[in-house]
Amino acid sequence: MGDVAIAEEEQHIFRSKFSAVPGPEGTTLPEFVLQDAEDYADKVALLEASTGKTYTYGEVVRDTRRFAKALRSVGLRKGHVVVVVLPNLAIYPVVALGIMAAGGVFSGANPLALPLEIRKQVEDSDARLIVANSFTHDKVKDFGVPILVVGEGQVGDAIRWDDLLEASDRAGPSETEEKVTQGDLCALPYSSGTTGSSKGVMLTHRNLVANLCSSLFSVGPDMIGHVTVLGLMPFFHIYGITGICCASLRNKGKVVVMERFELGAFLRALIAHEVHFAPIVPAIMLAMVKSPIVDEFDLGMLRLRSVMTAAAPLAPELLAAFEDKFPGVQVQEAYGLTEHSCITLTHGDPRKRHGIAKKNSVGFILPNLEVKFVDPNTGRSLPKNTPGEVCVRSQCVMQGYYKNNEETERTVDKEGWLHTGDVGYIDDDGDVFIVDRIKELIKYKGFQVAPAELEAILLSHPSVDDAAVFALPDEEAGEIPAACVVMSPKARDGEEAIMRYVASNVATYKRIRVLHFVDSIPKSSSGKILRRLLRERVTKKSTSQ
Ligand code: AMP
Repeated sequence: MGDVAIAEEEQHIFRSKFSAVPGPEGTTLPEFVLQDAEDYADKVALLEASTGKTYTYGEVVRDTRRFAKALRSVGLRKGHVVVVVLPNLAIYPVVALGIMAAGGVFSGANPLALPLEIRKQVEDSDARLIVANSFTHDKVKDFGVPILVVGEGQVGDAIRWDDLLEASDRAGPSETEEKVTQGDLCALPYSSGTTGSSKGVMLTHRNLVANLCSSLFSVGPDMIGHVTVLGLMPFFHIYGITGICCASLRNKGKVVVMERFELGAFLRALIAHEVHFAPIVPAIMLAMVKSPIVDEFDLGMLRLRSVMTAAAPLAPELLAAFEDKFPGVQVQEAYGLTEHSCITLTHGDPRKRHGIAKKNSVGFILPNLEVKFVDPNTGRSLPKNTPGEVCVRSQCVMQGYYKNNEETERTVDKEGWLHTGDVGYIDDDGDVFIVDRIKELIKYKGFQVAPAELEAILLSHPSVDDAAVFALPDEEAGEIPAACVVMSPKARDGEEAIMRYVASNVATYKRIRVLHFVDSIPKSSSGKILRRLLRERVTKKSTSQ
């Protein structure tokens, strides 16, 4: 293939400049990820930074199988959803892969979410079982769904992990199992997509295997078994479970698992465990550049070769400051979305730059993918160097939103193109740049915040007549949720009271950080909130003050 992406005459469809990577037919995600794992039986696959607890490859294979068998013995069947409410723990990937190997569907929930938020996911997904630990158990105990608790000790009347697995071991071989195929669903992460509230994204084994095949295109044989990766990005999110855990297990690397971000502990873990590769988000990069804590460390001790930033835009100034402070560490950007099973665009292994990686480009089109940039007004695909909505077609495109045909049809068209709601363009060298976002989504430190969800909470306040939520740029978080609110004429509540009300109904990262009272909310003729206009007005107001 030539050195530039290929455009078709009329349609302006762009393909990867790398050769296609054939995906294995018929292999399920756990089979793909754990292929050859027994050859690495004694090698540490997962290491918990805070406790030192480890899982070797031999143990991952053994417990994935044991858990899958145990789940089937308690009645889990193909297509049944299990909601996992756990922080990042070494056992997490074993739980997820075990659910999938049993034919179940893994649905990760944010362990920091409030009980009412988790309840929505449990109810919407028709979950049959919840996996929790002693900390998250309290949040889920009243949902009327059986709970399995990982870790030591008995919590309420929940089923204990050890008891379940040991009982299933004692029961001997299981009855005939339904064969799990690549076309079966295996994951149901939640995403708000281009509009509305959070929805279950239906992903099959084939979707996730295809994404790993494409995104690992630049991994050479020299890297198999030799890379230590930081497992800090949340495992309930597709970036954490697929992009980090499954990718590393597939490559027989080691994941250093961290529950939460705290800069000192983060740097200590990087040094102590000789981490080579740290997938992060721009907000963490900012802390690495700005915080004086970094100066307390001997950065010469770092074995870090590269960081990957994804999930949110990376400011060019931040990239430059990082390169200045960590000159030996390569930066690899990546762009992806839950609806496309994770990574979609990246430059690949920075040590083997596949062509020049331009600053501010999120990457090249991954092998096996087709991308076009569409004029949102005319629906026509656009030529190179012309920004349009990024649309992707590949085996990684989700099957749809769970129980929501309307949103599925809005997002994946009849020809199979996934409309991402992001605006970007491709240049002459095949580098893609993301320049804007036309969907409603707000990204706070890489976490999804759905304006529709916050608007519904605001409207449930008795003093609020109308409300609109939108993103405001923020140096630390990337974006923060802001609101404009129309109060009812007799209302006495101030801004703080309204913000507190929202805060009591959502996880911390979703809180409204800026609130303005307005006389009316600008809407289009079809009733759509003109969020961009509100953002411009609020930004203008704050800069003129
Ligand atoms: P999620 O489904 O939570 O991974 O969110 C996906 C969305 O995050 C994308 O549609 C983009 O809006 C945004 N995003 C992900 N990666 C990047 C990136 N490298 N640059 C800009 N935006 C990004």
